[in-house]
Amino acid sequence: MPMNIAIDGPVGAGKSSIADRVAKRLGILHLDTGAMYRAFGLYALRSGLDPQDEAAMTALIEQADVKAVLEDGEQRTLLFGEDVSGLIRTAEVSAAASAVSKWPAVRSSMVRAQQEMARQADMLIDGRDIGTRVLADSPCKIFLTASAEERARRRYEQQVAKGDMTPYEQVLADLNARDHQDMTRKTEPLRQAEDAVLLDSTNMTIDEVVDAIAAIAEDIYGKQ
Ligand code: C5P
Repeated sequence: MPMNIAIDGPVGAGKSSIADRVAKRLGILHLDTGAMYRAFGLYALRSGLDPQDEAAMTALIEQADVKAVLEDGEQRTLLFGEDVSGLIRTAEVSAAASAVSKWPAVRSSMVRAQQEMARQADMLIDGRDIGTRVLADSPCKIFLTASAEERARRRYEQQVAKGDMTPYEQVLADLNARDHQDMTRKTEPLRQAEDAVLLDSTNMTIDEVVDAIAAIAEDIYGKQ
């Protein structure tokens, strides 16, 4: 049975860094799907188009070339072959990613590419619609969350460490706005799959979360 693990959850739940560590522990690849929506959001901004304009985004996705390359335990996210991994973590691109991800044409293009990758290798995939759509048939699904205040506090501390002094209140407001947009959109809104295990990391360390997810995966797939 191919090993496919789905991790979903709201902004700042720690999905990406935790998914990275779990995948390394299990010796499988990790695909961060948010990076793909971010790269397309960046393309929309560079094109001078409004990410909220469905017709424009539907036309733009047809000609977009977004790829995730998984090599040496690292993901490089490419936009027309340019590695944009270092350019897609800004607040502006986050907001654009959340906006473009509402549109059905954008989602179906991304989902198709992600399912194609999952068919080729054992993979842990994180995002918002992985358990409900991309890996809907996976027996191993995790919904990772934490209180909004805790998620904002973690994100704020990461940003301060990088010299970004955006106030905590602003970080919390941005996070709540993006979650609201992700949870209320019509197409594949963020929600916990019925068969996903809920992990609330508010009072857990990263090590504890990594151990818990690895244990769930090993229960299902056996020790690798
Ligand atoms: O996970 P990350 O915060 O990088 O994702 C950026 C945005 O991309 C999210 O706010 C969400 O709107 C969108 N996204 C999505 N489906 C996914 C992954 C991300 O809609 N599978």
